[in-house]
Amino acid sequence: MRCLVDKLREKHELASDEYRALLLTRNPQDVEYLLSQAREVAQENFGKGIYLRGLIEISNVCRNDCLYCGIRSSNSHVSRYTLTHEQVIACCEQGYRIGFRTFVIQGGEWDEKRSQWIADVIRDIRRHWPDCAITLSLGEHPRETYALWREAGANRYLLRHETRNERLYGLLHPRGMSHAHRLQCLDWLKDLGYQVGTGIMVGSPFQTIGSIVEDIQYLTAFKPHMIGLGPFVPQHDTPLGRFPAGSVDMTARLYAIMRLAIPQALIPSTTAMATLAPDGRLRGILAGANVVMPNLSPTDTRKLYSLYDNKASLGAESAQGVKELADELSLIGYHIDWSRGDSPTKKE
Ligand code: SAH
Repeated sequence: MRCLVDKLREKHELASDEYRALLLTRNPQDVEYLLSQAREVAQENFGKGIYLRGLIEISNVCRNDCLYCGIRSSNSHVSRYTLTHEQVIACCEQGYRIGFRTFVIQGGEWDEKRSQWIADVIRDIRRHWPDCAITLSLGEHPRETYALWREAGANRYLLRHETRNERLYGLLHPRGMSHAHRLQCLDWLKDLGYQVGTGIMVGSPFQTIGSIVEDIQYLTAFKPHMIGLGPFVPQHDTPLGRFPAGSVDMTARLYAIMRLAIPQALIPSTTAMATLAPDGRLRGILAGANVVMPNLSPTDTRKLYSLYDNKASLGAESAQGVKELADELSLIGYHIDWSRGDSPTKKE
């Protein structure tokens, strides 16, 4: 098993069966070797600094109906909100004061009619804080909308491909959502000069080891600047709400595999990791993740942005809790890196 890890570190690629072996091994020493190699590679590229991104959840209004997601359009138990332009700016103001230099604007997927509103918000953030990176995570849109937001000043875009397997995609999404279109969106985003992040939920219902291997192969071919991976967490009002949660261990293995496959990728230790295990975020970092995205949303709307049950948004998971986060990181010998943290392989 160790020679597979060494081979991945050196060649950045393995055969399907070899990935499968790494994902399935039950030998704790092999797993620890995988994670330790990923840690070393992360440190070679980024030292022991962890980049921060301030997450602003602008709206839980969504036209989409993904079967796993708590803010899906057919969930009538959600009380819907949208921040005002002024509220978004106030979040950035607070974040900037704390030291954040990246703002992630995330939300449900809106009607195209509101794209102009987003563009105005982006322009305003860009004008106020020209030194900051603006990341969007707003789902699928026409190429023209992505171009409009890029011109307005957005630098990065997060859109998980969710799964490379078309059949599994069909089981997780409503009829009418197209797997090909999602992949098309990712190509457009890259083409428009965004730093692009993509990835999957780990342990989603119906997922197999084979489909995870397909995801690894898609990621190594697409070479995203950022890789977003988090365990599936059920949300009780969704059709998939009775399925078990994904595993923190499997997600950590995937962080490690992706760190060895794409050494310079920006890999967040995601909120879903922190939600499932008190030490989930640290375990992600010890598996080669190098980014944390604390929540900068107004405290009263945080609970309404409930993609899944018990989503962590307080304490070290909140922007106001950066001191707590810094203390947590120092326990494992890491620290916050306050710089903007662009992708070392960015196109701009
Ligand atoms: N609407 C935007 C952004 C919000 S969803 C979009 O679709 O990109 C952001 C991510 O949250 C999704 O890509 C999905 O992978 C993740 N997510 C949604 N529901 C989840 C759940 N129940 N468990 C874990 N992650 C979930």
